[in-house]
Amino acid sequence: MVTVTVSSINEYFFCPRCVYLRNFLKIQPTPTEKQRRGIIGYQIRRGLFMRQREIIENSHDAGGVFESAKAELEKIIRELPETCPQAAEDAKTHQTIIDEIKPALLSETQTLSKRLSAIMSEAGPRAAALVSPQKTDHYVISETTGLSGRIDKVINNTPHLINTGQVPDKTDTGDKLRACAYAMLLEEETGRKVGHAVIEYARTSEQRPVKITEKLKQEVLKTRDAILSMAGQPPEICPHGQGSKCAECGFEDCCYAT
Ligand code: SF4
Repeated sequence: MVTVTVSSINEYFFCPRCVYLRNFLKIQPTPTEKQRRGIIGYQIRRGLFMRQREIIENSHDAGGVFESAKAELEKIIRELPETCPQAAEDAKTHQTIIDEIKPALLSETQTLSKRLSAIMSEAGPRAAALVSPQKTDHYVISETTGLSGRIDKVINNTPHLINTGQVPDKTDTGDKLRACAYAMLLEEETGRKVGHAVIEYARTSEQRPVKITEKLKQEVLKTRDAILSMAGQPPEICPHGQGSKCAECGFEDCCYAT
């Protein structure tokens, strides 16, 4: 069955032509320097946000959370060459990138620790359960909607998405649609209504809910249809008119030549 992935729906809002090149012409982008940094930062930040239960379980009390979180951070960085092909490919560049982003990572780890500390102080022994997902990297496919995707975390029948990028003032449209598409997949799988999804911003530990409305669901289906229709009608070069996007997308050379 041909499905539209949820990540394509998100990418569509960056540039429809990226989706066309990746999904229809099966071209892989060549990561730019900025993207290589982004990939390594993504792996580390996501790793930390997936290990909140371990951080709490390894803390003796609320005051020990930062030490526990730092230990998890170091572990993720050590294991990176095994989990991230980009890091394994070029150890020297990888280390340079880690050295550059380490101060930011430590500051973000401190912010996360404050949040987990507060949960421990309030919930006591129940704290670990409160941040424990029922499912992680949960793959769902729907024959009804033709959508598929992997949900970062499912907590209480609610999809949680980890965003490791800069935190926008207003939730991005691509992220809202991604959240809604995951909610639709989960709703269909469990047969239980999903009223909202949550975006976890790794840089600030902010958790932002996205209300799942009928309008948003229709928008997801409209984007799915727009992606499927590309087979007969490829999008033009630079459909968004923003050269800065082209400079950072990794498809630039092959996109302009295709
Ligand atoms: S180079 Fe520009 S138009 Fe082409 S895929 Fe990238 S962002 Fe889209």
